Amino acid sequence: MQVRTRFAPSPTGYLHLGGLRTALYTYLFARRNGGTFILRIEDTDQEREVPGAVEKIYASMRAAGLTYDEGPDVGGGYGPYVQTQRRHLYLPHAEELVKRGGAYYCFCTKERLDEARAEAEKKGESYKYDKHCLRLPKEEVERRLAAGDMHVIRQNVPPTGRAGFDDVLYGHVEVDCSTLDDNVLIKADGLPTYNFANVVDDHLMAITHVMRGTEYLSSAPKYNLLYESFGWTPPMYVHLPVVMRDATRKLSKRYGDPSFEDLLEMGYLKEAVINFIALLGWSPRSEREFFTLPELEECFDLEGLNKSPSIFDMNKLTWFNFEYMRKLPFEEFLTLATPWLSKVLDPAKFDFRRIAELLNTRTEVLNRIPEMVDFLAEMPEFDNELYTHKKMKTDPAVAKAALAMMRPVLEGVSDWTEESLHAAIMERIPETGMKTGQVLWPLRIALSGKASTPGGAVEIAYLLGRDEALRRLEASRSKL
Ligand code: GLU
Repeated sequence: MQVRTRFAPSPTGYLHLGGLRTALYTYLFARRNGGTFILRIEDTDQEREVPGAVEKIYASMRAAGLTYDEGPDVGGGYGPYVQTQRRHLYLPHAEELVKRGGAYYCFCTKERLDEARAEAEKKGESYKYDKHCLRLPKEEVERRLAAGDMHVIRQNVPPTGRAGFDDVLYGHVEVDCSTLDDNVLIKADGLPTYNFANVVDDHLMAITHVMRGTEYLSSAPKYNLLYESFGWTPPMYVHLPVVMRDATRKLSKRYGDPSFEDLLEMGYLKEAVINFIALLGWSPRSEREFFTLPELEECFDLEGLNKSPSIFDMNKLTWFNFEYMRKLPFEEFLTLATPWLSKVLDPAKFDFRRIAELLNTRTEVLNRIPEMVDFLAEMPEFDNELYTHKKMKTDPAVAKAALAMMRPVLEGVSDWTEESLHAAIMERIPETGMKTGQVLWPLRIALSGKASTPGGAVEIAYLLGRDEALRRLEASRSKL
């Protein structure tokens, strides 16, 4: 079988992480099986469409490295790949379905439907369309269609019996037809609903495997009834469990959870995000945690999918990112770090290469860089208690002595390189009878005003430059 999979987002704004995971698994499954991966834009619900969202989808797919073989902006033999451009295809299929008895025209007014809905609500029943228009005489239907009466086309779900389908993860799923509603397939504006378009398009695009969220699990029996009415073979279904924020809540942008774009903007590496997302619901069944996209393409399989909801743990993602960041070749890291350094530091004044060297193995996420280095631009306020450190055996009194002693040492360094600074400081310490930490710890704090900094006293003194380092040393000393 020639595997063909599709990712079918609706352009409602951004690529949320659950969507990215569906896209990733769909892509990986196609690649692993030498198949074709398709992007289809599902934009028939025009009220929900957000301007610019389609372009965002293309950009996100590119950023994630999920290249599609067929799609709106790349073409392919099964296009068009945007549902509103396929509108001419749906109506004839719905009419065919009417002929086959799987659907019917419905002329019910909004008032009638609203009334029936209110009635059901009053009785505490769940609303279902009562098949009123299925019972209209054929002549009346034809007359009203010819007269141009407003109408929709509904699915004709059998009143009795069972409907089901097979899911790779959930096995055979079956429901009583009596629980299913006669959904609208073609709306009054002539556009299909998702319920219809997904079936027609998956068939016409020869999709063999459909992966999507479990929110579609309960509708899938109805879709299978449509396949049966058409006499088509349904695709294999893989419904993926939801991605949760915690034990009780779904991951959702509405509650401030980040989208894929947000993560990239925050300075997460796409490789880290992809690696992390891949493991949200799939396991290689080994202890291995690190996978590049090409490696995932080699080993992704449906057997490794997990049926229980996975929890999106931001700390875990940050840990992945830290690991990826640490392993980045230096030049790449420098390029990525430079714009973040520039937010708080003047490149004419600071040695960005050296700062990046210090940050390369210490950065969790790029957006943390400004707060890690802004002390270089401006000395922060700090409390003298910062000098107290038990293990280093320092306190403000020790600091006072250490700084007084370091001042002439630093002043004596003329070329202001790290080597000279280091040599001068290390040469002096043994003569004072103090421990190295008792000097270096206070000196670093006196120069940075912070308990933790990328780099130690020597690196910071070098980065600040002679004048600024001596100025800070003096200011901190006189504060003691
Ligand atoms: N357009 C649907 C969505 O964005 C896709 C569902 C499917 O993959 O069939 O949720």
